[in-house]
Amino acid sequence: MIGLLKKFTQKIINQKLSVSESVLFVALDDEFYVYGGLGDPQIKSSLIKLFGMMNINSLLVAFPSPPYNLVLQELLRWGRSDKERIIPEDCETRTFFHDIPVIRDFDSSALYRALSERKSVIIEEGPAIVSYGTVSPEQAFISFSSTCFSTFVKYFYDSLAYFKRPPCEDRIRVETFEEIKSYIKPVDKTDTHLTRGALSDRNALMDMIIEAGRVIVEKGLVDSYFGNISAYMNGTVYISETSASLDELRGAIDAVPVDGSSSVGITASSEFPTHRAIYWETSYRFLLHGHPKFSVIMSMYCEKDCPIRGECYRRCPEKRFLCNTPIVPGEIGTGRTGIVNTVPGAFKESDAVIVFGHGVFTAGVEDFNHPFQRLVEIENCAMQTYFNTIKSNTVR
Ligand SMILES: [Zn+2]
Repeated sequence: MIGLLKKFTQKIINQKLSVSESVLFVALDDEFYVYGGLGDPQIKSSLIKLFGMMNINSLLVAFPSPPYNLVLQELLRWGRSDKERIIPEDCETRTFFHDIPVIRDFDSSALYRALSERKSVIIEEGPAIVSYGTVSPEQAFISFSSTCFSTFVKYFYDSLAYFKRPPCEDRIRVETFEEIKSYIKPVDKTDTHLTRGALSDRNALMDMIIEAGRVIVEKGLVDSYFGNISAYMNGTVYISETSASLDELRGAIDAVPVDGSSSVGITASSEFPTHRAIYWETSYRFLLHGHPKFSVIMSMYCEKDCPIRGECYRRCPEKRFLCNTPIVPGEIGTGRTGIVNTVPGAFKESDAVIVFGHGVFTAGVEDFNHPFQRLVEIENCAMQTYFNTIKSNTVR
């Protein structure tokens, strides 16, 4: 158990979401296991009390590092729908959280109330995030990481609207925005060279998928590690399993024949039907799908005054582009408004497609180099476009 707590603490640190002195994991197996540099005895005893109240096996508390802590501070100041919750707008949130409850401190009854209905809670005092796992500390890690992602997206998305309505009278808001901005850096891709095409050998192909997965997590192009990767060879789609950790894909790749002769597809990623449809309809052989933050944020930014506002992610009627890349609507899954019906068609005209409020798909013919380069290019361009938009709106 300690090994697992160590592993997920390390992931939090690697993704720069927090530092070791600000993380505490508590898990219950045959006995209590405690790991992390956060030594506060009150927090610890409050967490241990929670194990008597909830059917869980692990709890995570972490004080996020900048810019995530600044983002939380700001959302706590002005981003609440009522006093008690923050409602993000991106797709990940719609799927995994409805909203994120806020409580004042580490009081165990308040924690219990918040966590009985949601996967994570924001503590004003800090700010900190508490999340839990019922079978594995991995769930606590995912909820924590997703909370950082969702609040980041909400903060930057809401700021677009704020800076559009001059004068921006809230000085703290303007100054904190500049401070948060100073932590934002473009993704560096100059040092990344993925294995070049080797389409004859199944094992080599698996290795290429594993390598690409590790790199897109390393580069922060997925949140927690949601997203998926696939390649197509000799009538078979090789794809990362549902909720597989993209930086640990060895043993977590499904091989699914496209003729439907196997039902393995069911355990494969929920986005498998979309990948398969792209392989059916185009000549691409390598697909990456990530959730890079600024692409997600800018995909939702639309100045059109349109009657279906609020339904855009499902049925946006406009032909929209971001960084010369088409943006399509589409929900997760295979329904009528599912991405399986919107993404493959868009690949007939582009080697990359952005899904509204969700993420980016990129495709290549020979190996993962081109889709990786495109994913980074689109994200960096989206970031640039974001700050240019803020600037032009503010000057006006
Ligand atoms: Zn996705």
